Amino acid sequence: MFSEKAKKNADACRFCYMCRHLCPVELVTGKENNTPRAKGLQVSMLERGMKMDRGCAVTMYECLLCGACTADCVTGFDPLVFIREGRTQAVLEDLVPDFAKKVIDRLEATGNPYGATQAKVDLTGVPQAGETLVWLGNAARYAVPDVAQALLSILKKAGVAFAVLPDEPASGCELGDMIGHVEDVRAQAKRAAQAIAAAGAKKVVVLDSHDCAFFLHECKDWGIELPEVVTATAFVAELIDSGRIVPRKVDEVVSYHDAARLARDLGETDAPRAILAAMGAQLHELYLNEKDNKNPANKACGSFVRARECGSSIMGQMRPDLAKGLCENRYTDLLRTDSRILVSADPQAAEALRLSVPEGCETRDLFVMLSERL
Ligand code: SF4
Ligand code: SF4
Repeated sequence: MFSEKAKKNADACRFCYMCRHLCPVELVTGKENNTPRAKGLQVSMLERGMKMDRGCAVTMYECLLCGACTADCVTGFDPLVFIREGRTQAVLEDLVPDFAKKVIDRLEATGNPYGATQAKVDLTGVPQAGETLVWLGNAARYAVPDVAQALLSILKKAGVAFAVLPDEPASGCELGDMIGHVEDVRAQAKRAAQAIAAAGAKKVVVLDSHDCAFFLHECKDWGIELPEVVTATAFVAELIDSGRIVPRKVDEVVSYHDAARLARDLGETDAPRAILAAMGAQLHELYLNEKDNKNPANKACGSFVRARECGSSIMGQMRPDLAKGLCENRYTDLLRTDSRILVSADPQAAEALRLSVPEGCETRDLFVMLSERL
């Protein structure tokens, strides 16, 4: 049923409350069920003979897999291990809630959570093969194409020779988030790797941090071979650093939203801030971001690793009500600062932060902002 690793983590979390205050989902719903502890308790009860029911399955899907709990855990436990396996169990027992089943069906039929068949990004004149391949991901291809378009425009202005796959397959990341890391997900990841290899890529510049973390972590663990993989933010920061692009500076105050997988899973907090600084922005850090607290030993005492997630494409499709609440909560963090401009550097964050922008506030994507300053 559950792996030894999942059981060990669930047994540790089931009576622990230490990270409950950081769970963005629980902070929207106020429901005990949504804490990492409650999920751990349910998994440990399943292991002790309780039967999974629909309510338990719903609990497993009311989670962003954002890793705030894991990052805050001073004892090193990881609720994501048993939450993912809880989803696999829900699939095996045919208990997946309708709101999640709809998204799984779309991912299996079209490779994206929207069920879209036609990407919205204009790739006219963009080569389909080459040594530097830009991997856009589903959110940028279907929901926020302006973010993809902005990145491509920046690369053109920098004189980078790049290619984009017109029929970019699913990475496997989103299906893995929905059903756990099972064989079907590995098969999707292998197809993605084959498409990347067929394009002749030696470097993949990945725009969506969910895909990037999946390529660098899960695919690596599974022995799926990929060329060098870098985030779009790190790649663009390097273009600025080397003088290949010089942004126009504007003196304004902004705050930056650390997307969970970019900041926590990939540890990338400096590159987006460097890009903002190159544009002349004064950065006012959001609640729970302590600029100078980068000592890993201090990670439970306030740092970027505690950044509150604002939602995800999958949550937007599964539970628009919850996604709206997550978005609204992130703006309450903005309103604690002197800034009214919230910048993100990830297409899924851009999509989530556009759901409900309070009056007087503004959200911007980092790449869109930069492309307008070149
Ligand atoms: S992740 Fe750590 S802090 Fe959170 S409930 Fe589990 S053991 Fe406690
Ligand atoms: S991964 Fe995020 S949303 Fe899920 S239980 Fe942990 S803190 Fe909550």
